[in-house]
Amino acid sequence: MGKIIYFDYAALIVLSMLIISTFVRGMTKGRRNRCFLLLLFTSALSVLTDIVTVGLDRTGVGYETTKYIFNTLYLFFHGITTPVYIAYLVAQTDTWHRMNRSLALRLALSLPILLISALLFLNPFCHVMFYLDENGVYIRGPFFLLLYLVAGFYIVFGTVYLFRYRSLFSTGRFLSMLLIFPLGLIAAVIQFFFPQYIIEMFMNSVGILFISMLIQRPEEIIDIVTGLKKHSAYVTDIRQTFTNGKPIEIIMVNIANYRSLSDMLGYDNLSEMLHKIAVQLESLNRSRGLEGELYYLGLGKFRIVVSEKYFPLVRGTAEIINTELKKEFSLKKMELNLVSHVCIARCPEDIDNVDSLLFFGDCLNEEAYTGEVRYVSDLYNKEYYDVMKDMDGILERALSDRRFSVYYQPIYSISEKRFHSAEALLRLYDEKYGFISPELFIPAAEKNGTIHKIGAYVLEEVCRFIASEEFQTLKIDYIEINLSVAQCMQNNLSSEVLGVLRKYKIMPDQINLEITETAASYSQNTMIENLNALNAAGISFSLDDFGTGYSNMRRIASLPLYIVKLDKSFTRMDENPKLLVILENTIRMIKEMNMKIVVEGIESEDAARQFSNLQCDYIQGYYYSKPLPKEEFISFINQSLATV
Ligand code: C2E
Ligand code: MG
Ligand code: MG
Repeated sequence: MGKIIYFDYAALIVLSMLIISTFVRGMTKGRRNRCFLLLLFTSALSVLTDIVTVGLDRTGVGYETTKYIFNTLYLFFHGITTPVYIAYLVAQTDTWHRMNRSLALRLALSLPILLISALLFLNPFCHVMFYLDENGVYIRGPFFLLLYLVAGFYIVFGTVYLFRYRSLFSTGRFLSMLLIFPLGLIAAVIQFFFPQYIIEMFMNSVGILFISMLIQRPEEIIDIVTGLKKHSAYVTDIRQTFTNGKPIEIIMVNIANYRSLSDMLGYDNLSEMLHKIAVQLESLNRSRGLEGELYYLGLGKFRIVVSEKYFPLVRGTAEIINTELKKEFSLKKMELNLVSHVCIARCPEDIDNVDSLLFFGDCLNEEAYTGEVRYVSDLYNKEYYDVMKDMDGILERALSDRRFSVYYQPIYSISEKRFHSAEALLRLYDEKYGFISPELFIPAAEKNGTIHKIGAYVLEEVCRFIASEEFQTLKIDYIEINLSVAQCMQNNLSSEVLGVLRKYKIMPDQINLEITETAASYSQNTMIENLNALNAAGISFSLDDFGTGYSNMRRIASLPLYIVKLDKSFTRMDENPKLLVILENTIRMIKEMNMKIVVEGIESEDAARQFSNLQCDYIQGYYYSKPLPKEEFISFINQSLATV
């Protein structure tokens, strides 16, 4: 019975479309893509040569040499398809370094296919694989079975390899990569019993189609603006690298003035700029022979991940990038200046987990700009990043074990010459890390939502203190409580606050709520409603950290504010006489709006005198006292009352 060739035609169509779409989608860069392309080409050549051999079979006598050539080529391409697929799996698992290190693995992978290739090469002379009889008919040789054995070996090898690295993939991805093996086996069995149905290559192409649809998806990993791999791909790849224990070096490039460039340029020009930078980095990567993987993580952050073999080239390349990025950047007749941090991370020595790596990358912009290429090892404060990485757990523990406490910092009234109020400041003591600054844990608590519980705790503690008998003797008019942005947006804030006041039977004017300048700049309806409702109930507000954000005077004038707290940075103004003019006029302006002024961060007698001369109302700072635990605060105030 003649062979049914239609499955091969179908396979050829599928594979051709995959080859075209791979090129059209630009999935040709990087080891994984290159291996996948190689797989497509070997499979397609295997199908093509199969079609030609079946055609030649039908011609009977003649074309002997051609038949030999095509049969040999078919068996060769067919034979290397599975090893090429295994190379693709090695690339997907990012385990080339293991392959390179282990001679046994390399031999196991290459010897069988070398043996087959050698036998095929010698076959015209020794006829061990196949030969043509006197009628020109193809006959299997004595070693033909070896082809099946080798194919079986590779299938087992690939399956074991994939299971070994199972944890690196989601179930969907894992199954789509595994599928090709059972499909191949089913095809081999069918073809064994029904030799006229040559469906092996068709089943193979179906397996490859699955991989192309579920794994080789550029939209999932490629950033459209830069053409580089995206943030999500960076996370997946780096996580895989850390799991595999593979050493890498990363050139981190952060455009520190990204936000101002973005405001200035608009979307199209900004995209063009990012694209140009990406092209520049790619061409450097190529010309230096770095073989790095390039990523764009968004917000002006580029990364080049380099394997061990190319470590000696990393420093030099980073230097070139640094120099290139310092040059003026031309974009549509504009000359732009990029301010970029270039930093080299050696992993896993410097950082050995994805979260810290990402967090460090985000914080890099906050480092002082030096213009030099730096090493993560010089900048990375492990303790700080460990705390930050562990922050969710720390907050959880602190809430359940009641590890928070409220400290009070006295505030001095210049006109009354006494401590007339105090600010409640939260403290967190963790068994592992000791005292942790609120500047670290408050933003984290805002992100993970625990701020609401924390805020409720502070409010409750302060109100309980105000309601206590010992508080009455202190003659403290009110306690200031910090509200974070997230709390200001909480829809039941006013009822919660008023509920606690009622519970402890304290008057609304015994507390004052501080909102930061940044929070005040968000014009959110919920926040404005909260502020107005609380203000109507008799609670006053302070504007905290004034002078650190971008104040919108119109907004400040429209909010129900009673006090403005000048940030500590104002206390270092004497270095520049012009700043003093700003300060004097700022104070006058605030006073003309009928608001009181607290100066924060007063550490010396000189500063205290200077600000009282400037007609500020209240002074807060280490000069008088640091924030104190409740008991110490009580004795501090009692002592000050006794000395009056
Ligand atoms: P803030 O509200 O501006 O608080 C003033 C900060 O300045 C406090 O830092 C205080 O210890 C510090 N300070 C006071 N006097 C001086 C001084 O003379 N010199 C210097 N260098 N610093 C001084 P702290 O306690 O570390 O708090 C930092 C920030 O954390 C606070 O800034 C506030 O924004 C936030 N925070 C603290 N407690 C709470 C809270 O209960 N809830 C919320 N939402 N935020 C809080
Ligand atoms: Mg404050
Ligand atoms: Mg402040």
